[in-house]
Amino acid sequence: MRTDYSAQLTTADVGRSVTLAGWVNRRRDFGGITFVDLRDSSGIVQLFFPGDATELAESHTLNREDVIRVVGTVARRSDENVNPEMVTGEIEIRVEELTILNRSVTPPFLVEGDGSDTTEETRLKYRYVDLRRESMQRNLQLRHRIFKSIRDYFSDEGFLEIETPFLTKSTPEGARDFLVPSRMMPGSFYALPQSPQLFKQLFMIGGIDRYFQLVRCFRDEDLRADRQLDFTQLDLEISFPSDKEDVLAFLEGSMARVFKETLALDLEIPFPRLTHAEAIARYGIDKPDLRYGMEIHDVSDVVSGSGFRVFADAVTNGGKVAGLLAKGCAGYSRSALDQLQDVAVAAGAKGLAWLKVEETIASPIAKFLSEDEQRGIVEAFGAEQGDLILLLAGTGIEPPLGELRRTIAKQENLATEGWNFLWVTDFPMFELDEAGKLTSSHHPFTSPRAEDIPTLESAPLNALSNAYDLVLNGIELGSGSIRIHDRQLQEQVFRLLNISPEEAELRFGFFLRALEYGAPPHGGFALGIDRLVMLMAGEQSLRDVIAFPKTTTGLCPLTEAPMPVAKEQLDDLGIATR
Ligand code: ASP
Repeated sequence: MRTDYSAQLTTADVGRSVTLAGWVNRRRDFGGITFVDLRDSSGIVQLFFPGDATELAESHTLNREDVIRVVGTVARRSDENVNPEMVTGEIEIRVEELTILNRSVTPPFLVEGDGSDTTEETRLKYRYVDLRRESMQRNLQLRHRIFKSIRDYFSDEGFLEIETPFLTKSTPEGARDFLVPSRMMPGSFYALPQSPQLFKQLFMIGGIDRYFQLVRCFRDEDLRADRQLDFTQLDLEISFPSDKEDVLAFLEGSMARVFKETLALDLEIPFPRLTHAEAIARYGIDKPDLRYGMEIHDVSDVVSGSGFRVFADAVTNGGKVAGLLAKGCAGYSRSALDQLQDVAVAAGAKGLAWLKVEETIASPIAKFLSEDEQRGIVEAFGAEQGDLILLLAGTGIEPPLGELRRTIAKQENLATEGWNFLWVTDFPMFELDEAGKLTSSHHPFTSPRAEDIPTLESAPLNALSNAYDLVLNGIELGSGSIRIHDRQLQEQVFRLLNISPEEAELRFGFFLRALEYGAPPHGGFALGIDRLVMLMAGEQSLRDVIAFPKTTTGLCPLTEAPMPVAKEQLDDLGIATR
């Protein structure tokens, strides 16, 4: 139906006869002459309809989004008509034949532009029109190329892509399960996988040496801008790793290949590594954005004997005094400082002390600090005139400092362009949930470090695990771990997590059994592909890189799912709703 794609035509094609097909982006009439921008998946080219040809009279009736096919000749535009903003701005097609393949009713919004003439809800309701938008075409093409690059890389490295079931049993990853009622066994339910975790471990036990899958996972969570109920992971697992470095190397290799092949960028590998403890101590967060520094400095030593009781008491009571240097921010107004205080308090701090480094130190607490202490603080931060020092005192002050660091970096635009990958390793094995119960920091199949196994029972909260996260520009891209491959240890971890032997048997009996049949050492990783594509596409929302996403309330505006179902369907499933 076509000989060429619109945006691939250049001045080198001038004089050539071409056949094109696509949508009417817009039409402009000038006293008989008609210009139409024709859009296809490659982009846009201008069509020129001379005024006098009666067989082209229908060109005057063309409306936005009508589907047409034209035969014409590529011509150079006259100088005054050249459009340097357009890829095909130097040429146009002198149309000789026009076929209208289909008409469109008036579209709900313009396909050209950035979508600001409509709401996201409307864009999603008419997603098939929205997908014609240049940014959506570009994002989905990038998505495809990223997927292809990943598949090529892992395939070349000897990984097999094998699917795992969607109708399965619950795999704990910390979210709620989506349940699917069984018709043939009324009262019983499948769970959609939160991840293929146990199946990929069974692959390793089954002798599949290296596995990967670009796989849909399902987690019933409250949505934020960077989450979807169903989302795609790059999931992988390898057998016989000498240690975690073997897993990390494959991720580094794959990211390097993806960036090279899709963005023509050379990533520096290996990526830097920080332990979880270092990340918290230096940046107050387990996924620091290292495109900017602003490290936490501890000034407990300087102020431990201070006349300012808040500082002295914090140190005496086992806490510390630490803070951040906000370069050049001494001009912050009272209300800007109050806002920073609100940020710190919302994140758990008791209050915020600030010192403006000017000719002298300007601060509400200056009068409580000796000259030596003031000088000591300024020196500890390497502060210069014009800087602002923010201090918190007490215990657990790292997370609020991390929040302050992020807030200031955002306000001051400190994050430069670039791709800052980082591994965070050695996460705690367990943490306490809101009810004060032990939970896995990663998931229950993660192994503790060998040196922490003897004290796992007596001091579980001190145990570190072989878990690692990959962070890109302050966003968590994925996590993984070296797994437990020994039944006794797995049972011990279940016990510590308050899972009784009966419950363990019910939920994970099949897996515990498998561990007894020669389970090799193994480990793996899962990376959120939607997030990676979002960052690589330079988008702010996952919805801009997913073809048919859901809104933050879990709705699909296009199909209107989820919906009530017919009573007969529920009867079939043995289900009554209330
Ligand atoms: N299954 C884990 C997750 O989805 C990743 C892993 O441990 O491989 O987060």
